[in-house]
Amino acid sequence: MFMKKIGLFLCVLFSLPVIGQKVTSPDGLLQVELNLSNNGTLNYEVHYKNQEVIQKSPLGLNSSIGDFYQNLVFISSKINRIDDHYTLPHAKVSRVHYQANELISTFLNSEKDTLHVVFRVANNDISQTYRINSSDKSRITVYEESTGFKFHPSTVTFITPQIQGEEGWMKTKPSYEEEYTYEEPVGTPSKYGLGFTFPALFKLENDFWVLLSETGVTSQYVGTRLGEPNAEGLYPIAFPDKSENAGIGSTYATTSLPFQSSWKTITVGDNLAPIVETTSAYDVVKPQYSPSQNYVSGRTTWSWILWQDGSCNYEDQQKIIDLAAELDFEYILIDALWDKQIGYEHMPSLIKYAQNKGVDVILWYNSNGAWNDAPQGPKNRMSTSPARQKEMEWLKSLGVKGLKVDFFGGDKQETMRLYEDILTDANRYGLFLNFHGTTLPRGWERMYPNHMTSEAALVSENLVFQQYHADQEAYRSALYPFIRNAVCAMDYGPVFFNSRFAKTNDSGTIRRTTDAFQLATSILFQSPIQHFGITPNNLVEQPDYMLDFMRKVPTVWDETKFIAGYPGKYCVLARRYGDKWYVVAVNATKEKLNLTLSFAPLEGKKVSWIYDNKDRTAGYKEIKVGKKITLDIEPEGGSVIYTPNNSY
Ligand code: CA
Repeated sequence: MFMKKIGLFLCVLFSLPVIGQKVTSPDGLLQVELNLSNNGTLNYEVHYKNQEVIQKSPLGLNSSIGDFYQNLVFISSKINRIDDHYTLPHAKVSRVHYQANELISTFLNSEKDTLHVVFRVANNDISQTYRINSSDKSRITVYEESTGFKFHPSTVTFITPQIQGEEGWMKTKPSYEEEYTYEEPVGTPSKYGLGFTFPALFKLENDFWVLLSETGVTSQYVGTRLGEPNAEGLYPIAFPDKSENAGIGSTYATTSLPFQSSWKTITVGDNLAPIVETTSAYDVVKPQYSPSQNYVSGRTTWSWILWQDGSCNYEDQQKIIDLAAELDFEYILIDALWDKQIGYEHMPSLIKYAQNKGVDVILWYNSNGAWNDAPQGPKNRMSTSPARQKEMEWLKSLGVKGLKVDFFGGDKQETMRLYEDILTDANRYGLFLNFHGTTLPRGWERMYPNHMTSEAALVSENLVFQQYHADQEAYRSALYPFIRNAVCAMDYGPVFFNSRFAKTNDSGTIRRTTDAFQLATSILFQSPIQHFGITPNNLVEQPDYMLDFMRKVPTVWDETKFIAGYPGKYCVLARRYGDKWYVVAVNATKEKLNLTLSFAPLEGKKVSWIYDNKDRTAGYKEIKVGKKITLDIEPEGGSVIYTPNNSY
């Protein structure tokens, strides 16, 4: 009788339907609460400074070995302290001290397999993943995640829609080059009915900011996105659309057990600094292999952007190599069509020409394959391992340092495997990678040490293609530091001094922004390989202080600090390399912007200042910084204050 009572008591204790597990950040301000409801479903909510950030939202997933979103039984939970120091050689910051509290809650599903729900909570960043193990099963296909993010209806969005596959030029979409919403209410359907691409920025009514993203995607998972929201403002996680990758490959993820999903990240701030400065993409991932060598970051010239396809010939490439040499740039990118217009047989002498001038070479490749109709060559050299390794051996023999690989097909596991295979093979041959026509890299700068940068945005090529995009240049430039470029490098291809986005100034789309704005974008946009849109005529047209700035400007940073701004309106940020600070400001509006700022690291220091002249050229002076810095920035103008190199 006595034993029976204890049995009953234990039974009641272990089947308690509701748990309320809380984990807070080291500073105690950010909190996640995890709950199991009566029917065994999981939900969580997020508070920051005691205010609601994410409302009660679902968790769990569905798979070939059973579902892990209902009838879950709580087993145990524990909290770990994470204290991690790591370095990033090619990012917006070089040393990171990651501190978080980790909640691991363990549940059994009806098949008696184990689900661990993991939340790591740092002062401004939450990371969430699932782990599954089974005592009698060896593999799993994940069909969908139940994970969602529910926002108060007064929240507004800065998010970019997913587009279906086999659309656009030569059926190359999705290429993750769509426009962002601007302060659109949550719950508004996306433009193409397929939800939204990471990262996604939300502004709450109390002026808190939330950036959602994903990291840690390898060949063992798919790239996920936000699905269509419901009217209540719940954004569910969605898997790839079957149209992606020309319909090739599954939309599911299949892997061995034990399994771990990607990490979803939630960055939270009561201002925009935690968003701009976040390291959420890197904090919870680990390198997948060691770098075979030190991959050198740097600046690049390229003829394609303003001289276009026809310029991919031997003579024009020599001129662009000379331009790189003149500015002490590390690289030239020889873009699409070199296989036909220069020819494989002439590449060794052209590459030698560059190397003799101290300029290393990056070559363009088509990723295809059979997942779109993009005709540019070289083709079929990156899409299979035998062809790729043969090509890379040749590239290594010529001393080529990096590849720009274009026209990928979406977020399916099949495509994630291709990215991982290209990166892994390239590391064996000492080549770094820049992906274009591509999805967001999800932690890849840390996971794959030879991943340098990726496109995954509407970038400078569009300034050349359409006046509409040239008109949007300033606006879009003031969006990216808060969204796309906050979670990884972005190969935008900035800095143009021609008044038209063309070879000559008598035709082509018209540039609206000032010269100082253009110079500022070399710092505003973070990419360890930075492709400058300059041409040889700029060497005689621009003053020495502009040329000298470009001769010395870094492309990787020890520190990045947000100073002021608002998405799409203006942005002021500071980056440090060694003992040199660069403070850049861009004004995206059609009115003059007067700013009074303070920036302690430069107080009392003598600095160089490049600013807008009335005629929209750039002026230069040397000033001593006081307690306050006052900037008068022209409409669609910019300003750069930096630790001096020389005097002029
Ligand atoms: Ca592109």
